[in-house]
Amino acid sequence: MFDTLSDRLSGALRDLRGKGRLSDADIDTTAREIRIALLEADVALPVVRSFIARVKERAKGAEVSQALNPAQQVVKIVNEELVGILGGETRRLALAKEPPSVIMLAGLQGSGKTTLAGKLAKFLGGQGHTPLLVACDLQRPNAVNQLQIVGERAGVPTFAPEPGNGVGDPVDVARRGIAYAREKQYDIVIVDTAGRLGVDAELMRQASDIKAAVQPDETLFVVDAMIGQDAVATAEAFRDGVGFSGVVLTKLDGDARGGAALSVREVTGQPILFASNGEKLEDFDVFHPDRMASRILG
Ligand code: GDP
Repeated sequence: MFDTLSDRLSGALRDLRGKGRLSDADIDTTAREIRIALLEADVALPVVRSFIARVKERAKGAEVSQALNPAQQVVKIVNEELVGILGGETRRLALAKEPPSVIMLAGLQGSGKTTLAGKLAKFLGGQGHTPLLVACDLQRPNAVNQLQIVGERAGVPTFAPEPGNGVGDPVDVARRGIAYAREKQYDIVIVDTAGRLGVDAELMRQASDIKAAVQPDETLFVVDAMIGQDAVATAEAFRDGVGFSGVVLTKLDGDARGGAALSVREVTGQPILFASNGEKLEDFDVFHPDRMASRILG
């Protein structure tokens, strides 16, 4: 996803190589090229602004180093700042002291929540946990069934409302799902919720009702990196309407520019925990800001 950004950034930094000393003008030129590269990749403007300001300030004030030449020093600064906007340290999933832990997934329809539920369940199962999926997306006719299929593939059971009882109440299903997990000793409950194609008040209310009822240990906002600039506005809407403790980026295998998704951490202040990069259950990993920064800087 970040090939163009990566090419542009390495290009900008390559121009510095071979220079014995960097003038302020050299740094300004490089900063300008980095700025354009980030903006073209759809990184949100306020994020780009503060990023560039920090890089410039640090590069101009950089001490003469024995170990690194000036160009390497700028690369190091850019790398560190990039790690910073991506969240710094890798953030692990917060689990409850007393099981079951509850992880709630929220996001727009099509963002990849249901697929993620399976991925996360498989990943946690591989770590020795015993996850249970709970189907609280009762809006889309096929959603419950889709979650059950994903669960079967992941080798994890799904708690779903009994068929034939009308639409049902997602808050009630969430509560009963957690009680069931407690009774059967599943140690992590993953609650899949309904999404809409766009942000709307009812979606927010439903998600926040579920959240209030189940008090999740983590509420993960799932965002499709392919939606471009909308990623930031959607993240802000979910932050204000539901609140979340972490972000999952999906569809990083796509060819969109993706920089908006990379801005979500900085804009909302919440860390990115996982990244999803394909339709298969294995296409999923813990998000490591340093590895992502290295990948982007090539
Ligand atoms: P939900 O509506 O949020 O539950 O989204 P789904 O899990 O149903 O996913 C919507 C579509 O995106 C499905 O066709 C998934 O196979 C696909 N999808 C989910 N995650 C990824 C991903 O990381 N990469 C790609 N390429 N497709 C994905």
